[in-house]
Formats: sequence, structure tokens, C-alpha cells
Amino acid sequence: MRLPVILSLAVLTCANCHGWGEPHRAITRAALESIPAEARARWALDQARLIREYCLYPDDYHAATGEQRARMRVYCEKPDGRLIHNVTWHRQDDIASLEYTLSALVAALRGGNTDSASMHAGVLAHFLEDSTCPAHALTPLDGPLSLIKELLPPPADKREIALHGVIERSAPAFSLSSRPPRSMGGSIPETARNLLERVYSAVRDNRANLLDLARALYRDDDAGADRFRLQGAVAGGELLADACYTVFQLAGQTPVSSPRFGQPPATEHVSAPRKDRALRASTRIPRLARSAGRPE
Ligand SMILES: [Zn+2]
Ligand SMILES: [Zn+2]
Repeated sequence: MRLPVILSLAVLTCANCHGWGEPHRAITRAALESIPAEARARWALDQARLIREYCLYPDDYHAATGEQRARMRVYCEKPDGRLIHNVTWHRQDDIASLEYTLSALVAALRGGNTDSASMHAGVLAHFLEDSTCPAHALTPLDGPLSLIKELLPPPADKREIALHGVIERSAPAFSLSSRPPRSMGGSIPETARNLLERVYSAVRDNRANLLDLARALYRDDDAGADRFRLQGAVAGGELLADACYTVFQLAGQTPVSSPRFGQPPATEHVSAPRKDRALRASTRIPRLARSAGRPE
């Protein structure tokens, strides 16, 4: 690809790299609620603000200025100044984002610093959820999903469709309550590696679905599109549940036994094919709309 094209895509990507608004809150809530209540009760986390506010930090950081930006910097940037937001597909940078946030979160939990722990957990949530959002399947190379419109030209009445925004404007609600969270590793580096492996795998799943997702949107089949939105949302929720569970173990707050990453899952809900899970969830739980005014 010629350099000017790459540069123009990079600019477009920045304008389209934000998350999927209200679904962030629903995914974060589902993830936290899947962790045993007795364990959550012992955690030094402000779960209400994490769900309402902190899981949106990387999006809000774009618009933050002055004192507010300075206050958020330690959560939304790594020490080298690079942002923690969505996977970049530069493995070293993505590992650095995860290791930095996980380490800071563990340290804050050990020190009983509830506010700091909650804000780092919010950024971790956003990173995992944004990366597994189907609209971000080609981010950072092609944020607007122009390639999909080239491979699969829209019908005349959908020629101007903004695929990225349409995909991430909402997601069906779901519950992970029947899925026990799993340990992702016994150290920060191992946990970061395992998390990133699963994030990349979920993004590849989203990429494989993109043409079918676009077909559904071209024919105004929102239920068809929801199957793929839900698949991405569930992937993000499961990742966050496992990440939080592991972090609390690493902080010395081991609550209950749970299978480690790589071991067979314990419940039918976990072992069912992802698409079947998505369909079941979408039939029993109400839809959550994207909140107005959130960035695309
Ligand atoms: Zn975002
Ligand atoms: Zn987006």
C-alpha cells in the first residue's frame, strides 16, 4: 500500500478509534457480576464508578484538557506517553499496555487505594472491550472499514453507510452469571501474554464475521447484525472477568478456586459454541442502546 494511503487511513483511524459507548457499561457490569459476590465484597474497588465512569476513560481522555487531562494521564497513558485504548497489533506495545495497567492495578489493590485501582480497572475494561468490538476489527489499519465496502459494495440506498458507527451504536445485553471466571496466569507477564492471545483471537473472529455483518446491515437485518455485536461483547466481558479475577489473585486476595486459562470450562454455558451462546442470550435479555453524544 502506498504511503499516502497508509497515512490517510491512520488519520481516519484516530477519528474512529473510540468505543461503543453505553455497551461499555453493560459489558463491564456483566463481567464484574460474574465474579462471586463474596469475592467482590472483599475487593477495594468502587464498582459503581467503574461501571458508570471509569470504563469510558480512554474515550473521555481524548476530550480532556488541563487539570482533568493531567489527572487522567497516569491511567490512560503508559510512561512513554503512548495511549492505552485499543490493541495496536504491535505486540510489544500491546503487552506494555497490559503489563502497565495490570501492575498498577495490583499495586493499588495491595495498597488499598480504591480510587486508583478502580480507574486502572476502568481503563483495562475499555482496552479489552474496545479491542473486541466488531467495529474495531480492522483497527488501526482501517478504522472506517472502507475495505469491507470495497470487497462488498453496499446497495444504492446504503452507499454512504458509515459501517464503523452503525456496528458499534448498540449491543444486545447479556449475562455471564453462569460462567465462572478463570485465572489467566500466576504473574503479570504471563497474564498479559494470555490476555493478549485471547484478544487477538477474538479480533480474528470478528474479522471473519465482518462481511456477514455488513450483509446484515445492508439488508437492515438488525437481529442478524446483533449476533455479531453480541459475540464481540461477550468476548470482551469474558476477558474482563478473567482479567479482574486474576488481578485479585495476584494482589493476594484469592477468593475461590477456579479453572486456569487453558483448562476445560466448567459449565455448559461456557462450552457451548459462541454463536449459540450469542443467540440464546439475545433472545432472553433486553437490548442496550448506545447513549447519545458518545464519540463514534
Ligand atoms: Zn474507545
Ligand atoms: Zn469505534
